[in-house]
Amino acid sequence: MNSTAKYYQIAVPSPLRRSFDYLPPVGHSKPLLPGVRVRVPFGRRQVVGVVIGHSGSSEVAASKLKAIAEVLDDQPLLSPTLFELFLWAARYYQHPIGEALLNTLPVLLRKGEPLPDNREQFWCLTTRGKGLPADGLKRAPRQQQLLTLLQQRGSANRLLLDAEGISRESLRSLLKKELVESAYRDPVVSEQPEENLLSEAPLSLYAGQQAVIEQIELHGYHSYLLDGETGSGKTEIYLQVIEKALRYGRQALVLVPEISLTPQTVKRFQQRFNRPLAVMHSGLTDRERLHAWEMARTGQAPIVIGTRSAVFTPLQNPGVIIVDEEHDSSFKQHEGFRYHARDLAVVRAHREQVPVILGSATPALESLHNCAAGRYQKLLLKGRPGAAKAPSWQVLDIRKKNLSAGFSNELVTAIGAELAAGNQALVFLNRRGFSPALMCHDCGWSADCHRCDLPMTVHRGDRKLWCHHCDLQARIPSQCPNCFSSQLQYLGQGTERGELELETLFPQFPVLRVDRDTTRRKASMQEVVQTVNNGEPCVLVGTQILAKGHHFPDVTLVAILDADGGLFSADFRAAEKMGQLITQVAGRAGRGDKPGRVILQTHCSDHPLIQQLTERGYPYFAQQLLSERRVADMPPYSYMALLRAEASNSTDVQTFLQQARAAAEALQPPTSNCRYLGPLPAPMEKRSGRYRYQLSLTFERRPQLQQLLSQWSVQLENLPGAKKVRWSLDVDPQDMV
Ligand code: ADP
Ligand code: ZN
Ligand code: ZN
Repeated sequence: MNSTAKYYQIAVPSPLRRSFDYLPPVGHSKPLLPGVRVRVPFGRRQVVGVVIGHSGSSEVAASKLKAIAEVLDDQPLLSPTLFELFLWAARYYQHPIGEALLNTLPVLLRKGEPLPDNREQFWCLTTRGKGLPADGLKRAPRQQQLLTLLQQRGSANRLLLDAEGISRESLRSLLKKELVESAYRDPVVSEQPEENLLSEAPLSLYAGQQAVIEQIELHGYHSYLLDGETGSGKTEIYLQVIEKALRYGRQALVLVPEISLTPQTVKRFQQRFNRPLAVMHSGLTDRERLHAWEMARTGQAPIVIGTRSAVFTPLQNPGVIIVDEEHDSSFKQHEGFRYHARDLAVVRAHREQVPVILGSATPALESLHNCAAGRYQKLLLKGRPGAAKAPSWQVLDIRKKNLSAGFSNELVTAIGAELAAGNQALVFLNRRGFSPALMCHDCGWSADCHRCDLPMTVHRGDRKLWCHHCDLQARIPSQCPNCFSSQLQYLGQGTERGELELETLFPQFPVLRVDRDTTRRKASMQEVVQTVNNGEPCVLVGTQILAKGHHFPDVTLVAILDADGGLFSADFRAAEKMGQLITQVAGRAGRGDKPGRVILQTHCSDHPLIQQLTERGYPYFAQQLLSERRVADMPPYSYMALLRAEASNSTDVQTFLQQARAAAEALQPPTSNCRYLGPLPAPMEKRSGRYRYQLSLTFERRPQLQQLLSQWSVQLENLPGAKKVRWSLDVDPQDMV
């Protein structure tokens, strides 16, 4: 044991923002390296923790300390680089290290299971077997076949036996005769990474792609923003960059927003490479997740593809990190350890000294700003492969127009014309359910959720009212509970109502609804994609799920039913998100040889943001938003943290946040560069019966904010009001709800 290591600091799954000291395990003389799992007594339980470090002294008297009960790993689970990334991220996002580490590990490791033994089983001849002549088993031809194979190859694994068509019975017979024995070896990570690497030929790049690929430097750290519209061929660039990395024996880590919605992306990777792919997403069983994790860690899977948390996957030999759809808000974790996977991907790439490529058709303002500041290199991909052209835009002002379930006459005519011409149309409507509110025409009563004080969404198919904020469900009343009138009206429209309206308008064409309600029920996204790809005329109606990753080559008209939500919102990012969403949805249209068009219904056709987006496109729109943010000193021109608190009593919440603000101001008095705002009610002030308030900190300099947060977060735990509320700290918050 290290002579100074009298105490080990152990991270345990606890909300307290510190590690805990333990004495070395009894009778264990080897020093424990950071990243090794241990079992320790904690309160009345035993928990699995991770060694953070050691020291010669402790603030707690040695007589009060307990010893580590059990050491679970011989070797640290994580490389020093990845381990330090965890430490860095826990500090940066102000999250307790124990929770950050343990909640990110595969569940089975968190529970203390040993690493899976994924050594490979193989079979070879015993001494007796080796003594046989070449045709020693010729009376049993199948056994002879196995004998010949082992005589020629020396050994064989399951794959080889299956490939040669050797049955398990023949193997069992030779094992029984003690002619063959089984053994285990470490998995062979291919020593010739180039051999049979591809299972299909790469596409030959068009000039724009070629120019981009030539700029990507694969040795050392470089950060790139690959900016190219939907369908411009970004994925093909990822595939070819990954190929290069694999050719010199490195691994690729690919982060994507949502795997269940974009199975095609994974399929393209599988089709291209003749190598195991470790796919990490929330649909895996615990066992499958651990297996994929271990394949990545040992290097057996040279390509790792996963959602947000995959940024923490250990890699034997990292070569490149790719973040697809880098603007997507799902990369930010919205509870607990609130990290941003895109930002961590960049930090990780820097620490691993590998390149990182962030790709999007609608880059986040943060990323565009990082390009302008010289932190990322921008790679502009111009054009689309083949004949495909970008769609044209039409803004349809619906002020004073008659709308039927949200559709103007002009829009209905346009959809009808496309269908009649044998084309497909897509209607985007960012609300699921039938209608977002139910109101009494006679007295004005509305069906609100009593726990959130907000209207409940009507789901007519399921005959219920459903609060989308707290999940409360109720039956749709047949008369007004206030005045007993039967004049109940649906206000606004959701996808279910859009579907019904379209079915009524165009009974001879299929209407396909795509939202969280339909995709949850079956593997229906796959079915929808198949139906649409057979090219027959149809109408798709759905939520933002339609904006993600799918190619609908025969869709020639995209209709956006209502673009106004993003223009009037308490969230300063709402306009950016609206612009991204509309551009992404629009990008689904007009591929292949048919040109596409987009019709956008709005009450504000003269709003500058609508005009910039539709007339000048997303890049110009984004520049305008950036200059607005600069004037207002908002991110990315400043750095923000949000302290959220909630409780069933609204005074408790406000009191706590006032105490918190006073504590922060004592550490850093407000100046024009360090601004405090709040306590203010959250945009959704009441949710699930709890009142929600927030306090925002906007600092001009990130290090100054970080310094304040590290002292403040410890104080918050001890504020007198802290016990009465549930609070959380969000660094670089992505939404204000
Ligand atoms: P993005 O990721 O930017 O949306 P993709 O890489 O998915 O774009 O490409 C869009 C479509 O164009 C895909 O069907 C892809 O197979 C095809 N494609 C991409 N690059 C080429 C190329 N160089 N030659 C021919 N087809 C291409
Ligand atoms: Zn009424
Ligand atoms: Zn509710």
